[in-house]
Amino acid sequence: MPKGLNILFCTSEVTPYSKTGGLADVSNSLPQELNALGHAVRIITPKYGPLDERKLRIYEIKRLTGIEVPVGDRIAICNIKSSFIVSPKGKVQVFLIENDEFFGQTSPYVDAKSGKDYPSNDERFIFYNRAVVQVLGLLGWQPDIIHCNDWQTGLIPAYIKTIHSKDPLLNSVKSVFTIHNLAFQGLFPHKSFLKSGLPDNIYNENGVEYYDQFSFLKTALNFSDIITTVSEKYAQEISASHEYGYGFEGILKKRKKDLYGILNGVDYTVWNPEKDKLIPFRYSSKELPLKRENKKALLKHFELDYDAEVPVLGVISRLTDQKGFDLVEAILKDLMSENIQLIILGTGDKTYQKIFENLKKKNPKKVGLHLGFSEELAHLIEAGSDIFLMPSKYEPCGLNQMYSLRYGTIPVVRATGGLADTISEYKNGKGNGFVFEKYEPAALLNAVRRALKLFKNREEWIKLVRQAMAYDFSWEVSAKKYVELYRSLIKKEK
Ligand code: ADP
Repeated sequence: MPKGLNILFCTSEVTPYSKTGGLADVSNSLPQELNALGHAVRIITPKYGPLDERKLRIYEIKRLTGIEVPVGDRIAICNIKSSFIVSPKGKVQVFLIENDEFFGQTSPYVDAKSGKDYPSNDERFIFYNRAVVQVLGLLGWQPDIIHCNDWQTGLIPAYIKTIHSKDPLLNSVKSVFTIHNLAFQGLFPHKSFLKSGLPDNIYNENGVEYYDQFSFLKTALNFSDIITTVSEKYAQEISASHEYGYGFEGILKKRKKDLYGILNGVDYTVWNPEKDKLIPFRYSSKELPLKRENKKALLKHFELDYDAEVPVLGVISRLTDQKGFDLVEAILKDLMSENIQLIILGTGDKTYQKIFENLKKKNPKKVGLHLGFSEELAHLIEAGSDIFLMPSKYEPCGLNQMYSLRYGTIPVVRATGGLADTISEYKNGKGNGFVFEKYEPAALLNAVRRALKLFKNREEWIKLVRQAMAYDFSWEVSAKKYVELYRSLIKKEK
């Protein structure tokens, strides 16, 4: 048995401490799985807002308080707190970086009042990235691998390779950078670069500069030892075209031999209808009448009438263009003319919020709407809906379509990124959902109608539901792929 690896997992969100999307789920479950495989993983993340430190069991580490971290020409103070993610898989230590000036608000990236990114996001994440590197020196723990995620962690590989290149604790550390969404790039003006403390000679297009701006994402793409993204299809898409690559397709093509697609997994200790504590009726694929009880509970929650014959379409999503809401908007009239009910849980763009508010007003008996973030409702919608809508324009991996499968809620998706890698059209008794290719309203409507048609065929529908519930996207396979990559990196050096 080869020796287990030491892995530092750097992330800007992780449940249960913070969450805006799938990254938080992945940051919770991948480290647990790696730990279960015999590795020592520690997570390091900002501590946003006032958290219930008693409930979350967050403790001070006396010797890690008052750490001085340079940001621009001043010094910011960082305290490290400790907590553990505990599950049947074991315990993973989490270091929470505390600084009230930068992370005093609960929302990780966007000012809840203005709905816009915090103007200080450059300083907030320069601080986080520098703190991570600095804290390592104080922990007296040497990682073999630093695994960074998305732009908010993008400077760490550059600090290791530049100003810390002679640091004995860091100079042999390998960095892995995972792209969870290439659309978020951490773009700031040149003056933000000056606050980073990185050397001037990397401010060029082979370093950190992206069209006259400083990009955290580009920094990571150029300085990390290996780049991964969260599905094979998305790895191909982002290195093949501008449409998906947003101008980074060139670098990604150049680094193709270092670019890997590894599908995210599902944490079935959290997303499993047989054990889910957040739903009123737990069920397996042999107890589908209980799924109907959840449907009743869901409709009751939204004060809608229950009719077993009427399919409920569920949506749980950030309300943004990425998720295909312009297509949804374009087919709303047709959708409302069908005998269906539509339930939406989401936060995001005001335009989409308005559209759905109007829709609810016009169709009070058909539409349930919750504008906000609710973990509980997300579970109830997965359990109580018949069909799940996810017509994304692009989708690096997507988790909800995989959660839906396990809850027997049939996904209607566009064939992009992780959706293409996990969902296939139900045909001749094979497949697990309904899939369309072209990003066009008619293609989405068609796919929805295929689902509605099959829903009427009770026997066939139940067969599909049972088949969908049997798919297994647990983390183990993907976590092993990460370990293989980590090991290949370490070997490369020797
Ligand atoms: P993304 O990370 O692009 O938002 P994913 O499908 O990978 O999309 O992950 C989304 C995660 O966020 C899922 O766990 C989903 O249940 C959750 N989620 C999204 N919006 C909400 C919401 N309004 N309330 C509760 N959970 C939400």
